[in-house]
Amino acid sequence: MLELEDAFARKFQYLRLSVTDVCNFKCQYCLPDGYQPEGRKSFLTVAEIARLTRAFASMGTSKVRLTGGEPSLRKDFTQIIETVANTPGIEKVAMTTNGYRMAKLAHEWRQAGLTAINVSVDSLDPRMFHQITGQNRFHEVMAGIDAALTAGFSQVKVNAVLMRGLNDNDLEQFLSWIKHNPIQLRFIELMKTGEMDELFDRHHVRGALIKTQLLHLGWQQKMRAFNDGPAEVFYHPDYQGEIGLIMPYAKDFCASCNRLRVSSLGKLHLCLFGDYGVDLRDLLTDDSQIGSLQQRLSDALVDKKATHFLHEGHSGMTPNLASIGG
Ligand code: SAM
Repeated sequence: MLELEDAFARKFQYLRLSVTDVCNFKCQYCLPDGYQPEGRKSFLTVAEIARLTRAFASMGTSKVRLTGGEPSLRKDFTQIIETVANTPGIEKVAMTTNGYRMAKLAHEWRQAGLTAINVSVDSLDPRMFHQITGQNRFHEVMAGIDAALTAGFSQVKVNAVLMRGLNDNDLEQFLSWIKHNPIQLRFIELMKTGEMDELFDRHHVRGALIKTQLLHLGWQQKMRAFNDGPAEVFYHPDYQGEIGLIMPYAKDFCASCNRLRVSSLGKLHLCLFGDYGVDLRDLLTDDSQIGSLQQRLSDALVDKKATHFLHEGHSGMTPNLASIGG
């Protein structure tokens, strides 16, 4: 069996699959002017997603995250979940969402086979939420989190991008929220992408500052399991929730890389901050192409680099995270 393994003996059990570039939010760090359609793009169809997932699963992938853009904007999103969840070998189907349709659809997604949800909430202050995301929908998103917990998701992960001057002083408020809620709150360090101007210099804060505060408050770091992703996770006996820190600028961040990305147009990206994507779409038209697809995936992995080059200020060709599925 061909396996998804690179030259550094890293294995890739985790696929992040973007199902659309379109987003209805205008997050300052991602699409500050909103999604700008460039002609009519045709995103991967359900049949193409089925073939792609089958090929990845046959090479050892067991977890798929559906992302975008905003994945729930696709009318056939529930069918996509079902298709991925029913692929032999796939054990976990997760999604990352801005949460705006979650209150209505969390139950349906759960029934379709979704096993985990990450939702973005950059601030617990509705006005700051509006300022950062360009959308006045804080209460809808919070209702969506409640709906997800009621629908049976045992833990919901919440992503907050850390931004100096906007939400970097909100730790106390976030902590009191997770005291009695089974939320894993993940602070993501702002990453510099191609389209970003001076925003990065203005707002970037190191996650290490939060780590220092957490340790000071008696939070303890969890041991990492072999297969864990790059988040450093902290727990506290008095809190039902947990804190995760995602610090892409930290040393050794890439050593635990276990993920590959496929864009909504069917390009394989070996790194979020890589320079190019390997086109897979010509091998997604017919079930009989699975052997060639497996071979292309295996060949592509030879080029995966040990690490990204963010430290050197090189953020690759990624204009923003929505464009290849953050
Ligand atoms: N629309 C969905 C959402 O809002 O979660 C999924 C796509 S979004 C691109 C995925 C995640 O990437 C979100 O949690 C978002 O906050 C994060 N993100 C986007 N741009 C980022 C950046 N420049 N630095 C750090 N995180 C970023």
